[in-house]
This record gives sequence, structure tokens and C-alpha cells, in this order.
Amino acid sequence: MPPIFCRFLEHKINRNRVWFDSLHHRTNCERCSLPMIRDVTGWRVFNDDRDADPRRDAHPNAPEQ
Ligand SMILES: [Zn+2]
Repeated sequence: MPPIFCRFLEHKINRNRVWFDSLHHRTNCERCSLPMIRDVTGWRVFNDDRDADPRRDAHPNAPEQ
């Protein structure tokens, strides 16, 4: 559950940490750390069900397993 301020305000896009996953630009909210995605309508919260796509690359800094 996001902190209360992000339920009333827009999420705060961390523009210093935007990365590209081959389909969309992505980042995290600076306040609540929720994953964000930029689609045609602008930034919104990344939806694991709706936005799952095998063409997406993993975060370039993700630790290798
Ligand atoms: Zn937030």
C-alpha cells in the first residue's frame, strides 16, 4: 500500500533514474518507490498483470541471478 501522500497527490517521478525496457520508459516513485511506467497517457503505476510483456528488458542494474 502506498504511503498516504501518494494516494492524494500524484506519484513523484524520479527523473534521474528513468530507464528504457525496450517498450516503455520506467522509473520508481521518489516517495513510495512504486514502479512507474510512461505510456501514451503519461506516467502511471506499473501494473504487473496488464503490463507484463516478455519483450520488456529487465532493469539494467538488476542483480544477476
Ligand atoms: Zn508514490
